[in-house]
Amino acid sequence: PFRLGPKILNWDQQRVLWKKKHPGADKNLDGKDRVLLVTGSQPKKCDIAMGNFQLLKALKNKIDYCRLHNIEIFYNMAHLDVELAGFWAKLPLLRKLMLAHPEVEWIWWMDSDALFTDMTFEIPIEKYKGYNMVLHGSEDDVYVRKSWLGLNTGSFLFRNCQWSLELLDIWAIMGPKGAVRMEAGRLLTATLSGRPEFEADDQSALVYLLATQKSRWARKVYLENSYSLHGYWVMLTERYEEFMAKGSAGGGGGEYRWPFVTHFVGCKPCGKGGSSSYGTERCLLHMERAFNFADNQILSKFGYQHATLSTSNVRRIRNDSNDPLRFIELLT
Ligand code: UDP
Ligand code: MN
Repeated sequence: PFRLGPKILNWDQQRVLWKKKHPGADKNLDGKDRVLLVTGSQPKKCDIAMGNFQLLKALKNKIDYCRLHNIEIFYNMAHLDVELAGFWAKLPLLRKLMLAHPEVEWIWWMDSDALFTDMTFEIPIEKYKGYNMVLHGSEDDVYVRKSWLGLNTGSFLFRNCQWSLELLDIWAIMGPKGAVRMEAGRLLTATLSGRPEFEADDQSALVYLLATQKSRWARKVYLENSYSLHGYWVMLTERYEEFMAKGSAGGGGGEYRWPFVTHFVGCKPCGKGGSSSYGTERCLLHMERAFNFADNQILSKFGYQHATLSTSNVRRIRNDSNDPLRFIELLT
């Protein structure tokens, strides 16, 4: 049967020993637990040129966020395990990164088609002290309704620990491409609510695991919905102008609260035969809007804004000052 790698039974103890030998290595510049944001895309270029450009912009967006919040970033383009290509590629990658980076406490996976759209907001990491995995989702939808959309695997936190290695081993079982993945897809569609007929995907497989082995896993999984660790783009991208006018960054703003992450679920901007449920053109248009909405939050520090959310052109929003440091203090 398929395996991600040699069975490891004592990763927590191995890490404790390593940390003893490297005091302080597990803290970042702020003195907090190290977080490594991991994202990536397929090894080959996209079918359409715009897709490559969009991948670059989505990466710039993540670099900006990570720079502001002292988070390290890793971009993967290799298929570490040919059996687990496509949306399953994150599983072998997460395992490899955990083992190669004992200094990292949390790995934060983020899809290439997810963008930060509130550059100020910080994840309330303290809240997750007793947990090993944090995903956007709802308990009812996962454990009661067993909906394949009950959680989202496009942006989630995973603690570097033995529990996570064990989850990966079991999670990967449905992943190997070909007959295994097809057969597992049928089981998932039969068991989960609302799932269309298609090969097994990592998100459905995780819902299935949690719903069918709740007592084994649920205690360490935090399903977050007090902010958009993942936010469904269709509900958000038409509202950015309204958010700018009436809301604010950083988690305030009530019903006009800026979404932390905007995720382009169902879009295939990279091409893949040009098929996507929303149409490639619509997807790319709204990704551009999400990128510019976020980029405005970066550019405003330098005194610029995109003229509209649909253009890469920028305009000045204030005059340069001969007293620039005073400005920085006003802004922070
Ligand atoms: N991905 C990857 N390598 C691949 C294919 C996908 O790293 O060969 C990543 C990429 O970040 C992508 C995520 O896996 O956003 C999810 O895969 P996919 O795009 O197929 O699913 P979707 O985001 O549409 O749910
Ligand atoms: Mn995605």
